[in-house]
Amino acid sequence: MPQVTHLLPHKKTKSTFLVPTYYKHFQCKGGSCRNTCCAGWTVTIPMNQYHYLLGLNVKKTLRDRLDRTFQPIQQPTKERYAQIHHNYEGNCPLLMKNGWCMLHTECGESVLPMVCRYYPRGPRLDFVPESSMANSCERTLELLFADTNPLQFEFVDLTFDMPMEPCKANQEEQRKYEQIRKSCFQILSNRSVSLPTRISRVGQFMIALDQGLSDGNPTELLDSFTIVKDISLTYQVVSKISEWFIEHSKTIHDWCVDANSFYQEHDIEEKYLQNLTHFETIVPDHKIFFEKMIINNLFFRQFPYQHPNHSFYDEFVSLCGKYIFCRYMAISIMRRHQTIEAFIDILAKTFRVISHTQFDKNIVILLNQQQMTEYHLLQTLLQA
Ligand code: SF4
Repeated sequence: MPQVTHLLPHKKTKSTFLVPTYYKHFQCKGGSCRNTCCAGWTVTIPMNQYHYLLGLNVKKTLRDRLDRTFQPIQQPTKERYAQIHHNYEGNCPLLMKNGWCMLHTECGESVLPMVCRYYPRGPRLDFVPESSMANSCERTLELLFADTNPLQFEFVDLTFDMPMEPCKANQEEQRKYEQIRKSCFQILSNRSVSLPTRISRVGQFMIALDQGLSDGNPTELLDSFTIVKDISLTYQVVSKISEWFIEHSKTIHDWCVDANSFYQEHDIEEKYLQNLTHFETIVPDHKIFFEKMIINNLFFRQFPYQHPNHSFYDEFVSLCGKYIFCRYMAISIMRRHQTIEAFIDILAKTFRVISHTQFDKNIVILLNQQQMTEYHLLQTLLQA
């Protein structure tokens, strides 16, 4: 290993973090990963990490690759300064044929940019110390689907080799944040009712929070509403949402085109039911998997505090959008596939868009444009 001179002051962040219990079992699949995170998406690094890599004392072959990999972006900021410049295959130039990273192999983990070093982990200190794993990594989904038990959490001592802004929330804000999240996850894990009903109950809870009727504990939850299932309406709404992603997302562009063209003609309901039957045969535990995936994502994104300008109800709208969009992608694209691995690949890629872009904000705007954000309408969409 070459002599590595640390130009970066490596400040550490140590704390007791709340994490999902699968967290400790995570290990990157490296060369055996089907959808490596080194390919296909825009990854940026801050200015200090770019300059650190620029000054790293390494062999000429690695230096050449490093210089080709990280290139300053136009209109850079301190936080988003340089970007990984993918090769013609769409891969990070540092990715070797065996699936491992050349920088990691030659210099060790400590020199990697933080995004490469800690992905798919998402440590947060905004309210309380928490860390989760992004659903966009196939290993995360494999760990989530390894059993059918509800997702559990535990406290563990963790150290991150990077400085993090300390928590600014006061004690009362922290208490409310913890209580609200605990209540939401309890509602979503209650398997005595269907997942769409649980999501609807989260909606009632969010309405109560907006109206100041709850201090973080769920108010009385009612299921006395009549829900109309309308497959055609649901698929027309999701197809419109997909059109936006066809224009704005390289990652899921092809799948959105495929799904939309399939449902475009006629007999939407018949086609949906056919696809659903096939999907349920290949993924019999899909209801449990969706529950765990959704809770894992909400924990990762700090629901219902994902977006500072969102009301609690907006957060509910984004949750509904996330659920129906994931179902649409999975049920539609799985018609061409026969394995659980394919299901994981579809979801991991879809979550690259959901977990790492402004999806939560955009989906609220897209549902608003279609005038589909009223509570009873969202309940209808959740049924498909
Ligand atoms: S997606 Fe996950 S398992 Fe695959 S290479 Fe990246 S961190 Fe490793």
